[in-house]
Amino acid sequence: MRKPVIAGNWKMYKTIAESVETALALKPLVANANHCEVVIAPVFTALKTVADRLEGSNVRVSAQDCSTETEHGAHTGEVAADMLKDAGATYAIVGHSERRQFYCETDESVSRKTRAALAANLSVIVCVGEMLEQREAGDAEQVVSQQLRGGLGGLTATDLPRIIVAYEPVWAIGTGRTATPEQAQEMHAFIRRVFREEHSNEAAQDLRILYGGSVKPDNIAGLMSQEDIDGALVGGASLKADSFAAIVNYNR
Ligand code: PEP
Repeated sequence: MRKPVIAGNWKMYKTIAESVETALALKPLVANANHCEVVIAPVFTALKTVADRLEGSNVRVSAQDCSTETEHGAHTGEVAADMLKDAGATYAIVGHSERRQFYCETDESVSRKTRAALAANLSVIVCVGEMLEQREAGDAEQVVSQQLRGGLGGLTATDLPRIIVAYEPVWAIGTGRTATPEQAQEMHAFIRRVFREEHSNEAAQDLRILYGGSVKPDNIAGLMSQEDIDGALVGGASLKADSFAAIVNYNR
């Protein structure tokens, strides 16, 4: 039985005070959500404060990225995965499409970040997804397969339980254009097949695959009704406590 994960990515939207305010508003609204893991990803600067204020609750904190480097030292501007763990993170998101598109993230850096996060005992939400023109050219599966094999190659069986894949078609992020539950299911089943080929049947069966791309309170139930959709990575609709809580507490 795969426990769903519903994660909110707050991107670069909130100050420390705003992050704390939203986190504290969210806490009681999702206190009874035992059916899933609830995760929020504030900016680096708010991580520790938010994690401290959520201590003892069922809401976990994620970093939005981490360094490829594990050795502390001369890496200006970078934050090591074990420092994120030290600040209270339980998860790290890596390979988000905004980082791939605008900050030179590659499958190789995703792979190094994934290993760094695993070494720091974080769970890793690894994002994959095709651009619109790639889907229209019929290349969506090939793109996603390449991202999975490049980003997650060489992991051992003991690493795999802490890997979560988020399928986020780039054309659905922040556009209001969600993949239909059937489109998402088709790609999620494909991702599970790739995982089976790369690792094992057991690892593939246990893998949590989240959907991301304009998830809202009114489309989450349809997405979650699909066999291979094990949760959501939510951007815009996670910024307000009540809409994120409505997603977490979707009609099951
Ligand atoms: C995201 O950025 O990961 C995302 C899914 O954003 P949105 O929900 O706003 O489409």
